[in-house]
Amino acid sequence: MISWLDEVTARKEELFADLFRILRVASVREDELASPDAPVGPGPKAALEEFLAMAQEDGFQTKQFGPWAGRIEVGSGDQLVGILGHVDVVPVGTGWETDPFEPVIKDNRIYARGASDDKGPTVAAYFALKLLRELGLELNQRLHLIIGTDEESGWGCMDYYFKHAEMPDFGFSPDADFPIINGEKGNISTHLHIKSSEVAELGATLESFNAGLRVNMVPQDAKAVISGLNTEELAQNYAAYLEQHQLKGSVELNGDVATFEMVGKAAHGSTPEKGVNAATFLAQFLKDIEFNQVSAQEFIQVLAEDLHLGLDGSKLGVQYEHEVMGQVSMNVGIANYNHLEGGQIVINFRFPTGQTPEKMEIAIKDALKSYQLEIEMAYDHAKEPHYVPADDPLVKTLLDVYARQTGLPAHEMSIGGGTYGRLMPRGVAYGALFPDSIDTMHQANEFIAVDDLLRATAIYAEAIYLLTR
Ligand SMILES: [Zn+2]
Repeated sequence: MISWLDEVTARKEELFADLFRILRVASVREDELASPDAPVGPGPKAALEEFLAMAQEDGFQTKQFGPWAGRIEVGSGDQLVGILGHVDVVPVGTGWETDPFEPVIKDNRIYARGASDDKGPTVAAYFALKLLRELGLELNQRLHLIIGTDEESGWGCMDYYFKHAEMPDFGFSPDADFPIINGEKGNISTHLHIKSSEVAELGATLESFNAGLRVNMVPQDAKAVISGLNTEELAQNYAAYLEQHQLKGSVELNGDVATFEMVGKAAHGSTPEKGVNAATFLAQFLKDIEFNQVSAQEFIQVLAEDLHLGLDGSKLGVQYEHEVMGQVSMNVGIANYNHLEGGQIVINFRFPTGQTPEKMEIAIKDALKSYQLEIEMAYDHAKEPHYVPADDPLVKTLLDVYARQTGLPAHEMSIGGGTYGRLMPRGVAYGALFPDSIDTMHQANEFIAVDDLLRATAIYAEAIYLLTR
């Protein structure tokens, strides 16, 4: 019996050296420096080439696919196992206590941008290959460790890669959570277009309404400018509304013009329940105002009546629950209106197997049929739900290894977000965050705990060994 963790721990200085080498390459996407030779800027490509150079120095066979992606090839056999990681990182942001591209070990943690997402886990998978070779354990199937450079944005790297390379029969992406993520919901956005309508004599003017930056985020801020009404009274009511719902906001009066601001709480669009949607909460307050445009009235009413707090899509008739993958979720990501041009509301849905964009379109059109707005489903960017059953040998093997090595309960999990795992028909995400890890992905002072790095490497080594029998 091999003690996988002991074997990794005995080589940890070498593992740190490999990881530090990749962490030192600043690999944020920089569109302003992009060129045909480096389509997302020079950093991600440099990190990819550093990784491939390291693997070559270690004696592995590598292949690069344009400026986008590359792979390390091991083993021989009929089947092809894929491991998909990425070396691009999100922007640094503010609040770092150390240089994000000069890794340091402090309190038994390795601090650097990418330590946890996803250079640490990708190097862990790489080191697992080195360990297997050192232990004299040959792979009886082929394995590709595939490295992408554009995971955090458009996944252009994997579009390019799979246009030019063979699709693995099955595999995993070390870019999320243990025990496993074998279900990922589908994703579609719906655009509601509202044309500005005639101005009546009576009523207030909704000069503008703006909320939200991206469809996959819960809007943190919303702002509405309204003119032609009794602003004093409205300001008092607003204060009471904010207090009643424990919200933050402000109102500024200037003659008969009132500017309302609402501060909610941002969250990822796949987990709208973790946020507070400033757009719908502001609309909810404004819904009793009589506006001088039908378009303004409808814009506010849709937000307040048909979308506010309907996070499972039930107000639009698209709710559905799959016993493993969970429920439909709905995020109102963007809401903009201007009294001259009209407005647009963009809603993002995550849906489990059993629900479809086509069925959702019918339900949404029916739910909103009393309005004059135009409803458009963004089929171009839609993603199907992805689910690898729990009795698939891939899922079973990965869960067995996890349970054996950690002694922790191993069970299937689904998420609303997307990982590279979904690119393979039999693909899952597998680590490297453990249930007790602190998740610092995309944050200042990102780190991977040294123990997590060692544990993940040991798990990957045994998993790769078993998957290539
Ligand atoms: Zn990632």
